[in-house]
This record gives sequence, structure tokens and C-alpha cells, in this order.
Amino acid sequence: MKKGKQPYYFNDRKLGEFEAEKCPECKEVFFTEEASDKIDKTAKDMGLWGLRLEGKLGYSGNSLIVRVPKKIAEFLNFKEGQKVSIHPEGKGKLAVEA
Ligand SMILES: [Zn+2]
Repeated sequence: MKKGKQPYYFNDRKLGEFEAEKCPECKEVFFTEEASDKIDKTAKDMGLWGLRLEGKLGYSGNSLIVRVPKKIAEFLNFKEGQKVSIHPEGKGKLAVEA
């Protein structure tokens, strides 16, 4: 494990650089407990806290539907009827971009 500061991103916003350990092989980053507390505090200060919510997938015809909680939609300024681009972002991750 290699110690050092690593950037932390929430969506595409960089919250800062925080103390972490990085695995030289798989490049996975593990933030220290102290850093995690700082990340939480920074996210709260930036008004980003509570934007990670549980959702559920469902089908409507041939399309998979995911509901975006109001809080997240407002944060992203997403409006009903707005055109968005949808694409997978790696495995198990879906991106919706305005
Ligand atoms: Zn590893």
C-alpha cells in the first residue's frame, strides 16, 4: 500500500485531496478514517450531503425505468421533458447527462 493524498470526486466535482492508501496493483484507493470524516464534512459544507439515495429499477414496456429522487433532480437541475444522454459508465454504473 502506498500512502499519499488522493483526489475524491462526488459526481464530477472534486471535493479535494485526502489522505489515503493506494494499492499499487489494482489502483484501488482506501481513504483513512480521518479522511473519510473530512470528506463527509466537505460534502455537507458543499450541500452535497444526502444526495446518495436508494432507488429501484422497474420495467415500462421495453425500457428500464429508474426514478430520480427530487433532491437529486433539483441538485442537477434536471427538468421533466429535458433531453439527456444515457450511457453505461463502466460495469454497474449508469450515467445520465444533460
Ligand atoms: Zn489491490
